[in-house]
Amino acid sequence: MNCDKCETPLPARVRADVRYACGLPSVMLINVEVQRCTNCGNEIVHIPNITGLNKAIAEAVASQEDRLCGAEIRFLRKYLGWSGADAARILGSRAETLSRWENDRLPIPTPTERLLRVLAMSNRPVEFYEDMLGELGRERRHEGLKATLRDSVWMARRSHGADAAAA
Ligand SMILES: [Zn+2]
Repeated sequence: MNCDKCETPLPARVRADVRYACGLPSVMLINVEVQRCTNCGNEIVHIPNITGLNKAIAEAVASQEDRLCGAEIRFLRKYLGWSGADAARILGSRAETLSRWENDRLPIPTPTERLLRVLAMSNRPVEFYEDMLGELGRERRHEGLKATLRDSVWMARRSHGADAAAA
C-alpha cells in the first residue's frame, strides 16, 4: 500500500492512540492501527466498523450529563443523516437558528436538546422522522385511527386519505 499523498510505499502498521477527526472537540481512538508515511508524514489510520464507532460516540454524547455544545449538536445531526434543512423541519425550528446553535451563538432550548438526544439514541432513517415530525403544527385533518390485526401484529393507521381507502 502506498501513501495517498505522495505515493511512497508505506511502512508496516503500528498501534497508536490517534485523534478522531469527527468534528467533536476531543475524541481519541485508543490502540488503533496506523501507518505513517516516512516521506511526507501523512498518517493513515485504519478504523474498522466506522458505523459502529460513530454509533458509540453518538450514544455517549446523547446520554452525557453536560448540556450539548454546538459541535455536539452538529455531530448528532450529521450522525442522523440530516441536512440543516432536514433538522430544522424535524426539530421545528429554522435553518438559521440551527446554525446558531451549532456555532455556539445561541443556546439550544432544553426541550429541543432532549428531543435531539432521544432521536439520536433511536437512529432511524431521516424519512422516518420527517413523516413523524416534519408536518407537526399543521391543521388537524385526520378523523382517528384504524387498528388492524394481521398475523398477530397490530397496525394502527390514520383514517384519512389513501390509508383509509386501502384498509
Ligand atoms: Zn507520503
